[in-house]
Amino acid sequence: MAKKQHNFEAETGRILELLTHSIYSNKEIFLRELVSNASDAIDKARLKALTDTTFLGDDTNFEIRVEIDKEAKTLSIIDNGIGMTQEEIHKHIGTIAKSGTKEFLEKLEKAKEGGDHNLIGQFGVGFYSAFMVAESIDVITRSGLDTKAHIWSSDGKSSYELEETEKEGRGTKILLHLSEGNHELLEDWKIRELIKKYSNYTRVPIMMLENDTRSDEEKKKEPKERSWEQVNETQPIWKKSKSSVKADEYKEFYQQVSMDFNAPLGHIHSSIEGKVSYTSLLFIPEQTNAFSDMRDPAKEYGPKLYVQSVLILDHAKELLPVWLRFVSGVVETTDLPLNISREMLQSNATLETIKKSLIKKILGELKKLRVKNPEGYKTFFENYGSILKEGVYYEHDLKQEIAEVLEFDTLLWDKKISLDEYLEAQKDKEKTIYYITGKSRAEVLASPYLAQFRENNTDVLLLTDAIDEWMIGVLDEYKTVKLKAITASDVKLKEETPEEKKKAETTEKQYKDMLELIKNTIGTEKIEKVELNPNLWDALGALKTPDGAMNPQMEKMMKAMGQAVPETKRILELNPNNKLVKAMQKEFKADIKSKKLKDLTSYAYMQAILLEGGELENIADFVGMTNKFAGEYLK
Ligand code: ADP
Repeated sequence: MAKKQHNFEAETGRILELLTHSIYSNKEIFLRELVSNASDAIDKARLKALTDTTFLGDDTNFEIRVEIDKEAKTLSIIDNGIGMTQEEIHKHIGTIAKSGTKEFLEKLEKAKEGGDHNLIGQFGVGFYSAFMVAESIDVITRSGLDTKAHIWSSDGKSSYELEETEKEGRGTKILLHLSEGNHELLEDWKIRELIKKYSNYTRVPIMMLENDTRSDEEKKKEPKERSWEQVNETQPIWKKSKSSVKADEYKEFYQQVSMDFNAPLGHIHSSIEGKVSYTSLLFIPEQTNAFSDMRDPAKEYGPKLYVQSVLILDHAKELLPVWLRFVSGVVETTDLPLNISREMLQSNATLETIKKSLIKKILGELKKLRVKNPEGYKTFFENYGSILKEGVYYEHDLKQEIAEVLEFDTLLWDKKISLDEYLEAQKDKEKTIYYITGKSRAEVLASPYLAQFRENNTDVLLLTDAIDEWMIGVLDEYKTVKLKAITASDVKLKEETPEEKKKAETTEKQYKDMLELIKNTIGTEKIEKVELNPNLWDALGALKTPDGAMNPQMEKMMKAMGQAVPETKRILELNPNNKLVKAMQKEFKADIKSKKLKDLTSYAYMQAILLEGGELENIADFVGMTNKFAGEYLK
C-alpha cells in the first residue's frame, strides 16, 4: 500500500515549530511526557476491561518498556495500553486535541519572546515535545479494538505519513530517531536517571533491560541474555505510610498532579477506616498556577479518583465543593464498585461521606497552616482567598468554620488578620465586628464614617473583594458576635451624655426645616431622608443605606448580572460641625429660596456620592462648583 501523506493542522504545525526552534534548556521532560501518555493508555485499557471482559485477552500484565538501540540511535517507549485506531491517530497525533490550544500557543509564544525557556518546560507539552530530541518519530500502534496496526511517521515539520503495519499485540510503541546532539539519551544510566527524576511514581512498572556494563569485546565473547528489570517505584505515594514519604517526594508528586511548578503550601495525607474507607493525598497550593489556573470556575477540578487501584476519574468534582477547587490530589477508595458510571457518581452516598470528611480536613489544615506558615498563607490567601469566601456564601452549615480561616484588611492593622484576631484585639470594646465595603482600600479609607472609629481606636474590616458584599451579608455573625456595616443607622461607639443628647436634639430642631427642604431639592426619588451626623470627620456629608435595603455596591453587581433591581433610596447625612453646613443654615434662615443654598445642597450631595466611590451624573456641575469655591479661596 502506498504511503499516504497528511498535513498537520495549522496550529499543530506552529507548536512544532515553536518547540523545535526554541533553544530549550529542559528538553529532557520529553520522556516524562511519553511515559505519562503510556501510563494513561494503560489506565484506559484497565478501565475498558471493567466493562469488556474479553478486551485484554491474555495480555494482562501491564508495563511500560523503555528500549535503547545504540546502533540504530533510537529510543523506544512501549506500552500495552489501549492503543490507537487509524482515526484516533489522525485525531490525537495529527492535531492538538486540547481545548486550550489557542491559549497555549499564546503563552508559549510569549514565553519564547520573553526568553523564558524555563516557562516553556512548565507546559504539559505532550507528545510533540519528543521532537526536541528526535529528528523523526514513528508511532506504531494497535488499538485493542482493532485487528490492524498502523505506523505514523513524521519529521515534525509540516506533514506525517500513516500506513498499515504489522504489530503483535495491543498497545503503542513510540520510536524516536534521536537527533545529533542528543545521543547522550542512548546511555542506560541517563535514561534511568530521567525515569527516577520525572516518572518515579508512575503506577505502572517501567522496565529496562538490565544493564550490561562489560566492554563490547567481552559482550561479544560471551553473549548474555539480558532480562527486563523494573526501574521505578510503583507503590503509589498515597498508599505509603506518612512517615516514609519525604518532603521532596510530596512536592514532586504535587507537581505531577497539579501541573504547578511551585511547591504546595501544604498537604493532607490520610487514611480513613470506617463506615466508608478511603485514602487521600490532597494539596493546597500557594502560588497561582499559570498553566492550569484553578481560580477559574470553568476549569475542571477535583482530585483523581481511584477505585481499587484503577483510575476512574481525572477530576472527581463530586469529591470537593467548587469553593475548594484549588485543592488537587488523589482519593482512593475500595467502597465503590469498579464499574461505577459518571451519572451514578453524582449522587453517591459514599462520595458524599468522603467529601464531607475531606472538607473538614482541608479547613482544619488551613487553620494550622495559617499559624505554622503565616507568610505562605498570606500568599495563598491573596491568590485563593476570594474563592474560599464563596464557601461562606454556599455552605450554610460550614460558614463559621470557613470564616475562621479568612483574613481581612482592617483599619488598624497593617497586615491581614483573622476574625478571631479582630475579636481578641477588640475584646474590651463593644461586642460587634464592624466592616465597610467598597471597591478599593483607598476608597473605603476615605469614608467619613470611619471618623468615630479612628477616634475611638475601634477596628473596622475593610472589605474590597467583589465577593465580600455577598459573603458578609450571608455570614451575619461570627461566634455569636454580630457583624455590622459602619454605615448602619444605629452604629454609635459612645453613648451620648445627657448634655450631648440635649444639644443634638436642639440642633436637630433648628435644622429640621432646612433638612426637609434639602431632601425635596435633591429629589425624594433619590433621598429618603436627610439627617445630621456630627461624626463625619471633616466631610460635608455622606450617604448611607437605610437598614435592610440593598447597598449601592450590591445594587451595581446585581445589575451587572442582568437582574432588575429597584433603585434604593438613600439617606443623606450632613455634618453640623462643617462650616459649609453652618453656612447653609445661615442662608436658609435669611432666604429659603437662596441660590447659594441650592448650590451648596447639590454640592454636598455630589461630594457624598464621590466619597463612597459612586459616579456623578454631571461631573461638569461639580467641577464648576469647585472652581467657584477656589475663587473664594484665592480672594
Ligand atoms: P495529552 O496527553 O496531554 O492529551 P499528547 O499530545 O501527549 O497530549 O497526546 C495526545 C493524545 O494522543 C493523547 O490524549 C492520547 O489520546 C493519544 N496518545 C498519546 N500517546 C499515546 C499512547 N502511548 N497510547 C495511546 N494513546 C496515546
